[in-house]
Amino acid sequence: MFLGIGLGSTNKLGLPGEKDLANVIDAVEYIAELRQAKDLARLPVGRRVVVIGGGMTAVDAAVQSKRLGAEVVTIVYRRGVEQMKASAFERELAQTNGVVIRPWAQPIAIEGHGETASGVLFERTRERTASWSARAAPSASRPTWVFTAIGQKADGATLGGIA
Ligand SMILES: Cc1cc2nc3c(=O)[nH]c(=O)nc-3n(C[C@H](O)[C@H](O)[C@H](O)COP(=O)(O)OP(=O)(O)OC[C@H]3O[C@@H](n4cnc5c(N)ncnc54)[C@H](O)[C@@H]3O)c2cc1C
Repeated sequence: MFLGIGLGSTNKLGLPGEKDLANVIDAVEYIAELRQAKDLARLPVGRRVVVIGGGMTAVDAAVQSKRLGAEVVTIVYRRGVEQMKASAFERELAQTNGVVIRPWAQPIAIEGHGETASGVLFERTRERTASWSARAAPSASRPTWVFTAIGQKADGATLGGIA
């Protein structure tokens, strides 16, 4: 017998604000909503978008956000561009759609303004001794959409908990 039930759950960052802030969004859920939307014009999208991850889902969320009207879209990946799981074609697609790819950085805090995410604080994953940090969205008063696209995993509840 073969089971082909996919990976129904997603990895979480485990950072404060990930669950509570309104515009911190699981990229897989957003893409699922987008694919089923009857009218894409009605689908909300942030003006400033940060996507955390480096796979197909990250690129999908970034490119679709740009096409839906986001002004600034940045993919931040913890390793190098060459190590991204997204294919070279997808990476090029991101860049030709105006998405900025920032490698070698990982999130350490999601900043909030009220109930809304206003930025993500990253630390550099290479040359850690250098005092380098970057805010993908530095203004605390401007909402920022944060997509998490850091991998899928088996849904523990699938098939009554056996998968
Ligand atoms: C946003 C996004 C973009 C992607 N882009 C690309 C891309 O450009 N190129 C690429 O190669 N890959 C891409 N991928 C990855 C690709 O979608 C997956 O690798 C692929 O779908 C995995 O196939 P699968 O058959 O293992 O699982 P799935 O495609 O997830 O299929 C599993 C199926 O099993 C069903 N199922 C689950 N539980 C049960 C149950 N208990 N009983 C019966 N049925 C059940 C589900 O409903 C589903 O239909 C992308 C993934 C995502 C999320």
